[in-house]
Amino acid sequence: MPVDMHVHTTASDGQDSPALVVARAKEIGLEALAITDHDTVEGIEPAMAAASLQGIEVIPGIELSTVCGDEELHILGYFIDWHCREFLDRIYEFRSFRVGRIEKMVKKLKAMGLPVEMEQVRSIAGAGSIGRPHLAAAMVAAGIVGSVTEAFDRYICTGGPAYVPRYKLEAAEALHLIRTAGGAPVLAHPGLSNAGKLLPGLKQEGLAGLEAYHPSHTRELSAYYCRLAQEHMLIISGGSDYHGAGHKEGVSLGLKTVPYAVVDEIKSLLGR
Ligand code: AMP
Ligand code: ZN
Ligand code: FE
Ligand code: FE
Repeated sequence: MPVDMHVHTTASDGQDSPALVVARAKEIGLEALAITDHDTVEGIEPAMAAASLQGIEVIPGIELSTVCGDEELHILGYFIDWHCREFLDRIYEFRSFRVGRIEKMVKKLKAMGLPVEMEQVRSIAGAGSIGRPHLAAAMVAAGIVGSVTEAFDRYICTGGPAYVPRYKLEAAEALHLIRTAGGAPVLAHPGLSNAGKLLPGLKQEGLAGLEAYHPSHTRELSAYYCRLAQEHMLIISGGSDYHGAGHKEGVSLGLKTVPYAVVDEIKSLLGR
């Protein structure tokens, strides 16, 4: 039975609550799904509570944004102990940094004569880990742009006129952090960065797997990353990076999945 190893919820910048995502996963026949919100574990317990009622498995996870040289790498952590103090303290710092960063982006937009209010962005983000999609939604609500895509393309994409970089977390530290919390680190959507040449170094620092299947990968690219994973003895993973039905056109929950055997591989690697 299929498993979606990359799912966002309202705990970060996804549009569906943890309970809703679990219900949808059950509906489409997934055996398990990994909750992988940006810099937060807040979605895990509500998802697990819903999952125990639905008879589906939730894999506790996270997605950390990191840098490695000139590349931006996103690293997923699976089966992390979401009570690990050292881990929680560090991701709390990342979340706090995100708030200041969005404030700076709001300031930049205001300086450009575009009236978007931090209060509005905060209210859209709710209690969740704040991010650019919340800012983009606030810009749509303020009538500055017609769509989230336009907000990104014209103003807040990487290098855009109102862009402010995230915290600078080294990939190696993220790998260690996930291992410290007892988890297995997997490199997310390697096709979105130029990650191939970095694999030997990342593997040495604790990388366990590669997300070969992702909506941004063509069939050829997925095949390429499967080969690379085999070459470097990394677990082959995959997921939809679902953020909600209206987030990115054509990306639905379970769009990319892997067989449950992948979960078993990760569990056995972690000695569970
Ligand atoms: P942040 O972590 O705050 O930098 O936001 C990153 C998130 O923004 C990603 O996880 C995507 O959900 C979203 N995102 C990035 N680029 C785009 C884009 N061009 N259009 C829509 N959403 C995007
Ligand atoms: Zn996101
Ligand atoms: Fe990502
Ligand atoms: Fe993601």
